[in-house]
Amino acid sequence: MTPELGELYQEVVLEHGRWPRNFRRMKDAHRKARGLNPLCGDEVTVYLKLRDDVVEDVSFEGIGCAISKASASLMTAGVKGKTVAEARALFDAFHALVTQGPGAVDLEALGKLAVLSGVSEFPSRVKCASLAWHTLRSALEGREEAVFTE
Ligand code: ZN
Repeated sequence: MTPELGELYQEVVLEHGRWPRNFRRMKDAHRKARGLNPLCGDEVTVYLKLRDDVVEDVSFEGIGCAISKASASLMTAGVKGKTVAEARALFDAFHALVTQGPGAVDLEALGKLAVLSGVSEFPSRVKCASLAWHTLRSALEGREEAVFTE
């Protein structure tokens, strides 16, 4: 990671961790899933509203470390308005980013999510960063509990 990206990473994680976007319960959600990262104690519930094949609205609530909150916040901002297929593709790209590092993915396609590439240097934090995404995928599949595939 370059020093600049390191600084940006810090800044974005702190900012989204403190003031997360779309941090609210959604009473009229179509789908809802809960995820747990026992390694760190992060808990997240992801709410989804789908219109046809589009993620019309997405929000989350929960408790956890700054990385888990920041990642959930960036996730909601990243998938809102996307089709279900696009949201899944973003999940795959994001997962490759945090597990394999920035060399493994098209950083431009990830947009702001790319700042979380720093997580790939800290394997113990990968689940913090991917929790909200696994939970989103479960919600998209109509499951209520998130399942970690690794
Ligand atoms: Zn965590």
